[in-house]
Amino acid sequence: MEKIVMNTPIVEMDGDEMTRVIWSMIKDILIKPYVALKTEYYDLGLPSREASGDKVTHEAASAVKRLGVGVKCATITPNAQRMTEYNLSQMWKSPNGTIRAALDGTVFRTPIMVKGIVPYIPTWTKPITIARHAYGDIYKDVEAYVAKGEKASLVVTGKSSEKIMEIFDFSKTGGVVLGMHNTDASIKSFARSCFNYALDRRQDLWFAAKDTISKTYDHRFKDIFAEVFEKEYSKRFASAGIEYFYTLIDDAVARVVRSSGGMIWACKNYDGDVMSDMVATAFGSLAMMTSVLVSPDGNYEYEAAHGTVTRHYYKYREGKPTSTNPVATIFAWTGALRKRGELDGNGDLARFADKLEKATIDTIESGSMTGDLAAIWKGEVPAKALGTEEFLKEIAKRLD
Ligand code: NAP
Ligand code: MG
Repeated sequence: MEKIVMNTPIVEMDGDEMTRVIWSMIKDILIKPYVALKTEYYDLGLPSREASGDKVTHEAASAVKRLGVGVKCATITPNAQRMTEYNLSQMWKSPNGTIRAALDGTVFRTPIMVKGIVPYIPTWTKPITIARHAYGDIYKDVEAYVAKGEKASLVVTGKSSEKIMEIFDFSKTGGVVLGMHNTDASIKSFARSCFNYALDRRQDLWFAAKDTISKTYDHRFKDIFAEVFEKEYSKRFASAGIEYFYTLIDDAVARVVRSSGGMIWACKNYDGDVMSDMVATAFGSLAMMTSVLVSPDGNYEYEAAHGTVTRHYYKYREGKPTSTNPVATIFAWTGALRKRGELDGNGDLARFADKLEKATIDTIESGSMTGDLAAIWKGEVPAKALGTEEFLKEIAKRLD
């Protein structure tokens, strides 16, 4: 069989632990036999980040900006315990944080649906995509404990002026304060990424915040979305037959639960953090959640939403059989290959991505799956729990 030719490489970012093991299995069993794979390889595994002083992460991020499409394996974000485990010279920053900051992107997370894995909400027949703003708010805040008798104020210092606004007078009791921020530029990028993604997917876009209570902060988000939409996107949305609307976050929650899915729900940073875990779990499994980081100038980085599955890796290292679900990582690869195909006008490559996704879903729906899915399976055929490699080989059989 002739292999599919690629014109432009994609940026390949390898990672850690169980997902690193799965990474090379996916390439060997499901991609390389069919595609003359062209990648620019960056090893973001922790030992390689340590050896390069984390330079490799920054290089990978600029490569994504240069080539437009990347695929990333899950990586360890070091904590104190990892410092000793990997003998690190520094507690390196989260690679995802570094890449997000470089691309100024928005993270879109979408569950992969299969018949037999039933969402907890029976009306959800189409996937719900959460678009999470990845900058600012409480993730870059300043917090303090204020003792009884103290007073907290917000001070804004200009070139020749100073504005002081009292937050609270803690005369009777101590308490807590926090200061947080966001920027017009970042909110605009967030809005553009969401509008572009909605057009790309031809799905409605919802945005929700709490502007009735947060009359300046959240209202700024609402206004910027409205302005960007009117100026740059309303006509394109109309011709694509899709809709943008803003609503209050509590109204959005009620509507999402009653909906049949199929929309993109744009969330501020914290809302997105919470809602994406809720949506992933309600659809069945975190191991079935894909994630793509989209920059406002149209660069794409695909990954699985889950981590390096450490618990399984320790078992694997002891030579015990493991059944780690590779589906979200397969879909990270297909997402990147399809996008590369679209950008290069390479129909064969895009079609291969579609076929690999279909083969993966068909394999599960025919009853062959990893242990995590077998445990929640409600399909008509009985579930057969396979090890990761056997499962990948089942998919390859279908692909052939
Ligand atoms: P995790 O790797 O997502 O795993 C948590 C648990 O969820 C697993 O122990 C497993 O449950 C289940 N699980 C997750 N993915 C699965 C899969 N593909 N197949 C089967 N089960 C799966 O999260 P973690 O243990 O909190 O974090 C481990 C490491 O990953 C950390 O070092 C963290 O820094 C890193 N991390 C990286 C990313 C990223 O790069 N995007 C994201 C999150 C975390 P059972 O053990 O019950 O089977
Ligand atoms: Mg979270």
